[in-house]
Amino acid sequence: MKIKLKNNALHIYREEHTDIHGNFLGEDYWEDILSRISGRELQVNTDELFKHEFTVLAEKGVLEESIRIPEEYVDTIIDDERHKKARCYFCNKVSESVLKCPHCKRKDYLEPFFDEDNYL
Ligand SMILES: [Zn+2]
Repeated sequence: MKIKLKNNALHIYREEHTDIHGNFLGEDYWEDILSRISGRELQVNTDELFKHEFTVLAEKGVLEESIRIPEEYVDTIIDDERHKKARCYFCNKVSESVLKCPHCKRKDYLEPFFDEDNYL
């Protein structure tokens, strides 16, 4: 599973973190990272899936460490592995089933990644 970041991800970040007087209030850390990964494809850590965010893996020469990317910066999701899976809010793991968490065996704490999987 991969995500392709929007070409203007850095621009979006700057716009969102600039006040009405034009002062940039964001972090240099994110500005630097987004300047390198905007428009790129990155590998997603599928052990750590979320509904509206993506944990991407470090990649030599591009990204030093694994980071979490909000979906607003994402252009395309490639080979999305979240279908028919859920996040378990009891044990905080990715459940391979939307009916019963294989890790803690509970069923009342599952939130499927896709709303249509609620009706399985
Ligand atoms: Zn669980």
